Amino acid sequence: MQDPIDAKDICPRCGSPLGEIVTTKSGKQMQRCSTGSWNPETKKVEGCPYVKWLDVPPKELDEKCPKCKSPLLLVVTRFGKRLKRCSTSKWDPETRTSSGCDYVEWIKGTSENLEEDCPKCGSKLILYTSASGKQLKKCSTNKWDTQEKMATGCDFVQWIN
Ligand SMILES: [Zn+2]
Ligand SMILES: [Zn+2]
Ligand SMILES: [Zn+2]
Repeated sequence: MQDPIDAKDICPRCGSPLGEIVTTKSGKQMQRCSTGSWNPETKKVEGCPYVKWLDVPPKELDEKCPKCKSPLLLVVTRFGKRLKRCSTSKWDPETRTSSGCDYVEWIKGTSENLEEDCPKCGSKLILYTSASGKQLKKCSTNKWDTQEKMATGCDFVQWIN
């Protein structure tokens, strides 16, 4: 007698149970086969390579659509890009058309002040998260001069992932 297991949680490649749901750094969710594991040293999957990507449910934001004043949703695409869209917007897969409000705002990246000093000049560091979820620390004195099209200030940058 085997315990009845939800078929959704079984690896279609080898029949083993799937592991826990993991949220990646870019906000995507995935479930790896429990017999497979990622080896960061060889950058290869050991064991069963099956990975199931999950659709991340959109999160309702405490922000209103500038077009129609409905709440906005935060959506993470399969490619890890993040966007805000109006909650009244609906996609009809049968007619392949969208209805409702068409407001969309792509999230370009956010920066956050850190309580950490720049090893080069001693100013504070900033944690910058790009639209695709990559993170880097950079010096707060570093600015982009849009007129000269060049970076000014201290050039310290440290990639996190
Ligand atoms: Zn498997
Ligand atoms: Zn709207
Ligand atoms: Zn610096």
